[in-house]
Amino acid sequence: MTQVLPTSPSLSPTSAPEGAAQPPKPGFDQLPLAPATLLNLQQLGYLHMTPIQAAALPLALAGQDLIAQAKTGSGKTAAFALCLLTKLNPRRFAVQALVLCPTRELADQVTQEIRRLARGEDNIKVLTLCGGSTMRPQISSLEHGAHVVVGTPGRIMDHLQRGSLDLSALDTLVLDEADRMLDMGFFDDIVTVAKACPRERQTLLFSATYPEGIASLSRQFLRQPQQITLTEQHEAGKIRQRFYEVAPEQKLAAVGLLLKHYRPVSTLAFCNTRQQCRELLQVLRAEGFVALALHGELEQRERDQVLIQFANRSCSVLVATDVAARGLDIDQLEAVINVDVTPDSEVHVHRIGRTGRVDQAGWAFSLVSGNQMARVDNIEKALGHEIEWHTLSELQPAPGKPLQPPMATLQILGGRKEKIRPGDVLGALTGEAGFSKEQIGKINVTDTSTYVAVARGVAREAVRKLSAGTLKGKRVKVHLLQDRAD
Ligand code: ADP
Ligand code: MG
Repeated sequence: MTQVLPTSPSLSPTSAPEGAAQPPKPGFDQLPLAPATLLNLQQLGYLHMTPIQAAALPLALAGQDLIAQAKTGSGKTAAFALCLLTKLNPRRFAVQALVLCPTRELADQVTQEIRRLARGEDNIKVLTLCGGSTMRPQISSLEHGAHVVVGTPGRIMDHLQRGSLDLSALDTLVLDEADRMLDMGFFDDIVTVAKACPRERQTLLFSATYPEGIASLSRQFLRQPQQITLTEQHEAGKIRQRFYEVAPEQKLAAVGLLLKHYRPVSTLAFCNTRQQCRELLQVLRAEGFVALALHGELEQRERDQVLIQFANRSCSVLVATDVAARGLDIDQLEAVINVDVTPDSEVHVHRIGRTGRVDQAGWAFSLVSGNQMARVDNIEKALGHEIEWHTLSELQPAPGKPLQPPMATLQILGGRKEKIRPGDVLGALTGEAGFSKEQIGKINVTDTSTYVAVARGVAREAVRKLSAGTLKGKRVKVHLLQDRAD
């Protein structure tokens, strides 16, 4: 059976005409979900199902195998996560669900989303297993028991070969972004992993496109799958905007609350003044966030360093004024926060348009104090639809240290002038130094310096190894760029 469903009309700021009729949106309460799960969804602000969720969840919860095709940002994670969580027995300490993802970053995102969705239940352990991290801690985490494993095919295979991962109790296998996994040459690995799973299981396959390899996989590993195809996805809901009324003196603390609740990996926080930038930076750092500020007083070199660290995911929050952020193009921005909503609705639309780019969904949060309400009226007019108000009391900040950025940046003193190329640095780190390709992120070479993003956990080791070795036959000075407390 194939269902082909049109997606909801675009809700993007520019194309939703005033007063346009909205299609009826199904709620999660139509589904056979536990009351605690429904409550948690509500607290997360998941008030309605997205089209793919509405199409997939009833079938998935009924135990069907699925092939679901929908673009990135359409809410596929919750579609499979709610299904696997519903079937889970928390008292059984065995891997009951496995999600295969193409990359480490996607695996981290899926893990985070599953954890958020599992908050209603007690003590469900979700473990990420990807290359680029050392095996030992992964093995000991597995020994301590995990209910759900999310990982890349290569690393899952490694664990299967070593016998550190037992899939005999598995009842849900998810192939997320299956087309990308095939593009990356994981076909055989997926086959091996699927063969290590019990035959009696549910298999859910998600993909943005439907290349031949998918048909071949599904013929081999899915049982009478239901096929769901969402035709062309528009901008619909790619930017999720939320407005919060906040007293002026609570604003900076509110930013921390938002970040601890939603846990975005990269956030751009807009302030209206330089002074506010400075204050926010101090507050965030005091709370343990890795944050940097971009303001007019920085020298070019400092500005470059800030931007490089933000773009390579070594910094979680970039605090900026509109002027300073001009021309900034960051492709993976999970959230924009308007610490002060701007009086200019065009500026507002521009600010929030930085998130939800390309295939990514994004959040846009605006903090509004009582005397700024008129600004919101302007924005509502410009958007052509009513905005969504939320309250800070809905937020449930995750306890403990805030989410740390996945990467850290090393600065090598030496750049284009020394004829250093990204390949040389990558070669040095993955060759002699023994790091894996996945542990190395973006490499930016400027005239006099080279900046290398490396997985945060191995940053110091990378500094040591690069300092001890040579680059283009010469020794180099290397240090870790720290977020300077200024
Ligand atoms: P996909 O896997 O299709 O790319 P994701 O599962 O990553 O999409 O979801 C994109 C974003 O949408 C995430 O930030 C997620 O938290 C949010 N989201 C998912 N479902 C809902 C919903 N029903 N209501 C509101 N937000 C949702
Ligand atoms: Mg996804």
